[in-house]
Amino acid sequence: MAMEVAVVPRRELFIDGEWKEPVRGRRIPVINPATESVIGDVPAGTEDDVELAVSAARRAFSRNRGKDWPRASGNYRAQFLRRIAAKIIEKKDELAKLEAMDCGKPLDEAAWDMDDVAACFEYYADLGEALDGKRKVPISLPLETFKCHARKEPMGVVGLITPWNYPLLMATWKVAPALAAGCTAVLKPSELASVTCLELAEICKEVGLPAGVLNIVTGLGPEAGAPLVSHPQIDKVAFTGSTETGRQVMGYASQTIKPVSLELGGKSPIIVFEDVDIEKAVEWALFGCFWTNGQICSATSRLLLHESIADDFLDKMVSWAANIKVSDPLEEGCRLGPVVSVGQYEKIKKFILTAKNEGASVIYGGVRPQHLDKGYFILPTILTNVETSMQIWREEVFGPVLCVKTFKTEEEAIDLANDTRFGLAGAVLSNDPERCNRLTEEINAGIIWVNCSQPCFCQAPWGGNKRSGFGRELGEWGLDNYLSVKQVTEYTSSDPWGWYGRPSKL
Ligand code: NAD
Repeated sequence: MAMEVAVVPRRELFIDGEWKEPVRGRRIPVINPATESVIGDVPAGTEDDVELAVSAARRAFSRNRGKDWPRASGNYRAQFLRRIAAKIIEKKDELAKLEAMDCGKPLDEAAWDMDDVAACFEYYADLGEALDGKRKVPISLPLETFKCHARKEPMGVVGLITPWNYPLLMATWKVAPALAAGCTAVLKPSELASVTCLELAEICKEVGLPAGVLNIVTGLGPEAGAPLVSHPQIDKVAFTGSTETGRQVMGYASQTIKPVSLELGGKSPIIVFEDVDIEKAVEWALFGCFWTNGQICSATSRLLLHESIADDFLDKMVSWAANIKVSDPLEEGCRLGPVVSVGQYEKIKKFILTAKNEGASVIYGGVRPQHLDKGYFILPTILTNVETSMQIWREEVFGPVLCVKTFKTEEEAIDLANDTRFGLAGAVLSNDPERCNRLTEEINAGIIWVNCSQPCFCQAPWGGNKRSGFGRELGEWGLDNYLSVKQVTEYTSSDPWGWYGRPSKL
């Protein structure tokens, strides 16, 4: 494998506020998926490193360590989150470039991610500050002799595990609310794209985040992720990744009965009715599936088209797809880069081949672009003649592959949309507001878009139903993920309780 000029800063694990070499000294190569070249490496942490990281986070959660992070004011913690946000913006270009080279996403998208990362830290700084006034929730009781309140407290030391499709953003969705809530954390990013998370560690050092509040252990899932989930000193696990790994994570967490929130895969529908503006709808359908190179959990990768507009829609969609610039993510105007790894590339090609063998037709793409002889590139791919029994209709591809079916009636569209074991997202495109409203209720998913697909804001809840997981990130729900509720009840009467008879010899 070719070795490019190393662009990835050499970093170690981030434990207790310091860089620490992994105990076993191993490293994982970082491969640029556009060039197939090694551009650096990241440490491969294992159980021993997880042990050190969890101990550091536990100490930082204890009284008077980590400048008493969990008991400090929201304003104290918010100052660090805001400094982190400012540093992200200061280093935006550099971070976006690293992200694009590490996971293959177009540079414009990576830059957009960095804005979202900074906005998310700012947002949770505000929410964490506001929490001070809302921590105590008074509860009125039917007995006057008791006074009660519920108190929201940081959950403790949390384990955060994230995927590679939005490496720094997915980490931020967890780190920002966890820290704002007063938790301390150990983050385990994906081994396929950890570079920007290690840059976040550098930023934490630069802003003087107290030691142990955030620890970052890169490494393989079974070697670093599994021991983190199983660790008895971890109080909660927040996981984003595939449904299969999520199932394993639930299993490990069950050993110590720790709460888990799971953001898993999807196979989301986009329903296009006959009354839409076709060009606008075509663009949303493409964006909904090919944004982030098709590697989005919420990709609306099952297109349901009203049969009366299908021919016109598909003709236009193929023309638009052919116009998408597929290139090295760093090239100006790139709108589709390579998929993240050779493993993912082979997996997607196999999905397409199986679909063809099962009788589906590729009306665009399905192969690598002719002008690119290196890199894990696959053209945006559109499949018709898809049956609901086919693998391509039922399973998450996690690549730029869109499959299409037509429908006649609204009821049929709803049935097709809900005929999936996933329930992450869905989109409905129609100029009839009442119909849109009906479908927002009928589609079984955690996120529904109307006349668009994919926009995401850190103020709004994010998460899925069915095998797409449970729990919600972002918004106030994201903060609640890291808070536990304690009941405090006080007996206020001057009279004795009087349940037992008073012993006569007293
Ligand atoms: P993955 O499940 O392979 O890996 C996710 C993380 O889990 C990685 O950090 C990995 O190292 C770790 N891991 C792997 N095995 C583990 C184990 N046994 N114990 C603990 N940790 C382990 O997923 P991926 O390929 O990195 O990401 C793609 C998946 O993520 C897709 O299914 C996608 O839909 C999903 N995703 C979901 C959301 C969402 O918000 N719902 C967002 C982004 C991605």
